[in-house]
Amino acid sequence: MKKLLFLFLLVAAIPALAADSQVVIMNTESLIYHHPSCSRVESCTKNCIKTTRNEAVARGARACRVCGG
Ligand SMILES: [Zn+2]
Repeated sequence: MKKLLFLFLLVAAIPALAADSQVVIMNTESLIYHHPSCSRVESCTKNCIKTTRNEAVARGARACRVCGG
């Protein structure tokens, strides 16, 4: 039983860690971050920087409504 609980915790923690270090494209002017494959990223060349989701959220950005960040 203890082994199962450990496995469950391990599996539950992986997506959270992956989401935080996920590379996103953040618009520093509108404070919206996108998934690198988002169609909006192509039109965003001036104020966009490559960062991680964790960093983007820390800087006050929110996820794009089209791609979900
Ligand atoms: Zn987007």
